[in-house]
Amino acid sequence: MFRLETDRVLIESFRPRDRRVIEMPAEVTFPLFVRDYLAWTETSGARVYLVFTAPGSRKPIGIIFRRDTTDSGAMSSRICDWCHSYGSASEVGLLTTDVNNKRRVGVCLCVDLRCKEKLEDAADRAGRQPREALEQLKERMFRFAHEALGIEAQPAAQVSG
Ligand SMILES: [Zn+2]
Repeated sequence: MFRLETDRVLIESFRPRDRRVIEMPAEVTFPLFVRDYLAWTETSGARVYLVFTAPGSRKPIGIIFRRDTTDSGAMSSRICDWCHSYGSASEVGLLTTDVNNKRRVGVCLCVDLRCKEKLEDAADRAGRQPREALEQLKERMFRFAHEALGIEAQPAAQVSG
């Protein structure tokens, strides 16, 4: 759980290069309490936003992904790198994000980033607690942010609760 005090804090969770054009999520009020992570899709469907925190940190990290529309793909079923759900090309696909002006990285993910719901559903059906799977999900998110984009965790000075 983390808290976004203002829309400014939400915007500043994204890298400076990403802050120029941000479509805010619909129907949110601040302060906003986020359980696990926040994800939303632009009304155009072209970009997907993710805000989460690294394990042990309360500093929000924002990433904006672009849906790769050229990725029609021959495979009928794909698997999400983060939650390991299977889906058709319209459910699981290549999302890309800028590393810098010259380089983009792509990762195969649930295109709406609803990995959390899928993990919770799977845990429900198996009669398990979803907590562990959700922790692994957040670790994978951070590993991508760190290894692909060089984003650091920067643990918050004050940690409570
Ligand atoms: Zn997923």
